[in-house]
Amino acid sequence: MLPAVARGHRGWFHPCARLSVRMSSTGIDRKGILAERVAVVTGSTSGIGFAIARRLAQDGAHVVISSRKQQNVDRAAAQLQREGLSVAGIVCHVGKAEDRERLVATALEHCGGVDFLVCCAGVNPLVGSTLGTSEQIWDKILNVNVKSPALLLSQLLPYMEKRKGAVTLVSSIAAYFPRMELGVYNVSKTALLALTRTLALELAPKDIRVNCLVPGVIKTDFSKVSHGNESLLKYLRECLQMQRIGEPEDCAGVVSFLCSPDASYITGENIAVAGFSSRL
Ligand code: NAP
Repeated sequence: MLPAVARGHRGWFHPCARLSVRMSSTGIDRKGILAERVAVVTGSTSGIGFAIARRLAQDGAHVVISSRKQQNVDRAAAQLQREGLSVAGIVCHVGKAEDRERLVATALEHCGGVDFLVCCAGVNPLVGSTLGTSEQIWDKILNVNVKSPALLLSQLLPYMEKRKGAVTLVSSIAAYFPRMELGVYNVSKTALLALTRTLALELAPKDIRVNCLVPGVIKTDFSKVSHGNESLLKYLRECLQMQRIGEPEDCAGVVSFLCSPDASYITGENIAVAGFSSRL
């Protein structure tokens, strides 16, 4: 049986509530900078993906949220709909071809096309040494973190053309500063930097921009696993120039900007949101 789509009370989407206002570089207030655009965000029922989905919807977009578990999809969609945002949800494990197909079909059926894809879903088993990692774990991490964004994009591409759209991949500061205990995860997140540049090149003729968000340590369930140890968190805080751990919302505005016309000449870039300068 197909998982149910989380619907708004007036059919699929709530009417757009354009809540947020961004000051443009000209200093003029602009409401709903993403109005009437359609965004698909993977891994978006909690953490960074949820904050991004909420922000894109606050900025006027219709947003399709998704993750592996129906109850998470229902809870997240209901919460955003209660806030008056135009959001619908569907189950999608990004590593499963049939789930990706259903996500694409659902977005098309209800929105007719897609402008923005944000690939936030990621897997982070603490695997330790890269050379000690089994082939099965290698495959799982590369499948979810690296292959799935490219495969989902290839499925969506015919419906993103001629819409001046944008894609945002989500890497990690571990791509710049690998950590011993994260092993293959470091490798997968570094591969996403290369994927960003390659896709930016390939999709420029189609007027689709591709950029990459590079989060530092952000307070989510995910980072509880990878940085859960209090003394490690304290150490990290002290090392950061900004002396605080990031919040998911710290990542959300950057992605909205990257989708917006304000970023119309930005492609192939990695943008770190990490509380310190990642430049060497
Ligand atoms: P999170 O709070 O644990 O949220 C993960 C979200 O992804 C959930 O909605 C989860 O819902 C969904 N998900 C997990 N596996 C999935 C899969 N295979 N297919 C589809 N959805 C899936 O994680 P987060 O911290 O926001 O992390 C999001 C992304 O940011 C990841 O790519 C991670 O590598 C990256 N990142 C995070 C940090 C950090 O410090 N938090 C730092 C650098 C990079 P379900 O359980 O329902 O699937």
